[in-house]
Order: sequence, then C-alpha cells, then structure tokens
Amino acid sequence: MRKFRDDLYLNTGFENLTESTVLEELYDFAEKLKNEKNSEFCACWICLADVAAIVLNETKPYYCSNFIDKTESKDYLDKFKSEVQQKIVKAFKIVKKNPHHNK
Ligand SMILES: [Zn+2]
Repeated sequence: MRKFRDDLYLNTGFENLTESTVLEELYDFAEKLKNEKNSEFCACWICLADVAAIVLNETKPYYCSNFIDKTESKDYLDKFKSEVQQKIVKAFKIVKKNPHHNK
C-alpha cells in the first residue's frame, strides 16, 4: 500500500495542493516563531502537527496531477494563502490553550 501511494505521487505528480500550501505557510510561520525571542506560541513538532491537523481538517482538499493544469490551480491557491495564514494563527491559539505536552 505504501509503495502504491509513493508510486502514484512520484509518477503522476499527484498532489493535494491545499496540503502543500498549508504546510508551506506553516513552515514560514514556524520559522518566524523560532526567530522571535518571547514567542507567543510553541513551535515544537507536537504543536505543529496539531496545528496542521486543525487547519487541514477545516480546509477543502484540492487534488491534482501532472495531467491537470497546475499553473491555473496555483493562481487559485495564491489567493487562498491569506485565508490559510489566518487559519494557522487561529489554530495556534486553540493548541496553546490545550497543548498535548506539559508546560
Ligand atoms: Zn509544543
């Protein structure tokens, strides 16, 4: 099953563009947090995974492959980025109230 999944992704450019956008934005946000001295939010792997799950669960997936015009899809997703950024901040606030670790 793992191989089928990997082959499908590698051979056809199969991708959930929503997930890629959310993870890119989350990466940028986490990098910013790491550079802040007294960051408001925790950017450990546990919290990042929780934030990713919250944001992705409330965002519609957008699957495509090499055989669908990804350029057009990218235009759509660029507009969608600011919405994702707001959702990330909201999710960090939720996780902060109830982190899955001590502290
Ligand atoms: Zn944490």
